[in-house]
Amino acid sequence: MGRVDVGFGSARRGGARGGGCENRAVAETVPRSDGLPERVETLVRAAWVLTVGPDGDVADGAVHVRDGEIVAVGGYDELRADLPDVPVVGDGTGLLIPGLVNAHTHLSEALTTGMGSELTLFEWGQRIVGPLGCVLTTGAAREGTVLRAVELLLTGVTTVNDMFVHSNRDDFASLGVVDGLVSTGLRGVVSFGAEDAYDPAAPWADVARIMDEQDDLAAAVRTAAARGAPVGFRYGVGTLLGQSDELLEAGVAACRARDWAVHTHLAEVREELVAASARWGRRTIPHALRLGMFERPLLAGHGVWVTEADVEILAGHGVAIAHNPVANMILGSGVCPVPRLRAAGVTVGIGTDGAASNDSQDMLQAVKMAALLAKVHAVDPAVLDAPTVLRMATLDGARALGLDHLAGSLEPGKRADLVLLQDTVCVSMLHDPCGQLVYGASPRAVRDVWVDGRRLVADHTCVVVDERDQIERVRPLARRLAIDSGLAAAGISRLAGPPDWAPRPPDRRRRWEEQVDPDE
Ligand SMILES: [Zn+2]
Repeated sequence: MGRVDVGFGSARRGGARGGGCENRAVAETVPRSDGLPERVETLVRAAWVLTVGPDGDVADGAVHVRDGEIVAVGGYDELRADLPDVPVVGDGTGLLIPGLVNAHTHLSEALTTGMGSELTLFEWGQRIVGPLGCVLTTGAAREGTVLRAVELLLTGVTTVNDMFVHSNRDDFASLGVVDGLVSTGLRGVVSFGAEDAYDPAAPWADVARIMDEQDDLAAAVRTAAARGAPVGFRYGVGTLLGQSDELLEAGVAACRARDWAVHTHLAEVREELVAASARWGRRTIPHALRLGMFERPLLAGHGVWVTEADVEILAGHGVAIAHNPVANMILGSGVCPVPRLRAAGVTVGIGTDGAASNDSQDMLQAVKMAALLAKVHAVDPAVLDAPTVLRMATLDGARALGLDHLAGSLEPGKRADLVLLQDTVCVSMLHDPCGQLVYGASPRAVRDVWVDGRRLVADHTCVVVDERDQIERVRPLARRLAIDSGLAAAGISRLAGPPDWAPRPPDRRRRWEEQVDPDE
């Protein structure tokens, strides 16, 4: 089945101020979720059902799904006896788990993987993500989201927490993520990770314009959710350092007034703390506390460079952390003290981080790396066991997003977000089912995925996106981004080939020439 065509040609353009009529315009651009697979009453069967809930691990188990909801969890034989006519998916081998929750990513990086692998975070932000952010569009956001949805689903992800980071003054590009999520059926929380402090003279460094995009993104999510799409909104703070004091204060006021939860980054690299101390006289976590950011539910990526006092603040205010082991290792950022945070009562989920700092959206890889990094850091193989890692990647991720009443475990009453792993060598022998999942499972094992009761992956194939068509669709977009951002001319991206492209608009050319020295 092909992907639903939702026509991003009507994408909102930025620049105008918000208001009631703006919201109506947004509503017109939000696609309907019809066209996705119907919800079919099903009994899903596996050798082991790892519920991450009160039922524990069920041998030769099954989950009964009806109208998008989990109705019952138990032994296959008992459930089957009561439901002789309900279709069964699964042959009784393999594993059935709750859908994985990718607690932190950036779909703004969907088309720009694999560059700058030898750079630190600040260098990478300045040379790669900054120039790209100037030229991202709604169309690139939507098509990139659809592309990465394939990778997310085929690695067992059913919920994704996104922060779209861009600085294109002329396009409310973050709204494209809503289109992409709705058309693929993924459960998602979206945010716009605005930054205005690094180049205060730049045209996008306009607090009113940024708050307009936040309002329009929230409105697009409300409209999509009203039509049944499993999407939510958080207020995005790219980083504290990346925002002017004016924008930080405007954001806190908006979150108070509108009851918005927050998605940001905290304590990712040591340089962040040094710069924050120089700017405000305190590190980022105490500064966020002082600003009032922790009055609202807040999920922060990383939490690597935390002091005991920081941990106390996080725990005391219910701040959740998304641990991104692969991105932390690629950028050489440091090691998140997961056991210490968990012992203090901090909820810690697992994320891939953006496709450009990872450089993929393979959640199974992030799950394995979360375990391995903790072990090698502590020189202790027992420091973070497999059931704990699975819980972090499911229930704790859902809790970090305030979604644990809906997702994160296989329990009657929750929405049917399930992943069946079957048919492959890597799940063929389950001496220890959870250990095999965390350390041995690969995307090849992901056979079926349901989100909100819709079977989006069937028999190892993503049925809501034609993967080959989507790859062809995004290739010219990725090439255009490489050219317009200047990364092709700088030799950082080799995607565009020889420089035979049309000239870029002068303001964008100036921007990337400031950022990227082609002679380097
Ligand atoms: Zn991030």
